[in-house]
Amino acid sequence: MENVQAACDKCGSALVPNAAYCERCGARTRRAKRLVGLAIRVELVFFLLVVALVIGFTWIYAVQK
Ligand SMILES: [Zn+2]
Repeated sequence: MENVQAACDKCGSALVPNAAYCERCGARTRRAKRLVGLAIRVELVFFLLVVALVIGFTWIYAVQK
């Protein structure tokens, strides 16, 4: 469901296909917003994974003593 955005949401000027930003006003395109949202989610999952690993290893270390 990749709907190509042809015009800027903010100023309405034509966009270069698959552009991340509007060349006229600098507004982020819908595609870029979605990618940023995805990147934040991936980062959050990665962060939680690291936290879980640290807690897990701390627990294992405490149990082994
Ligand atoms: Zn614009």
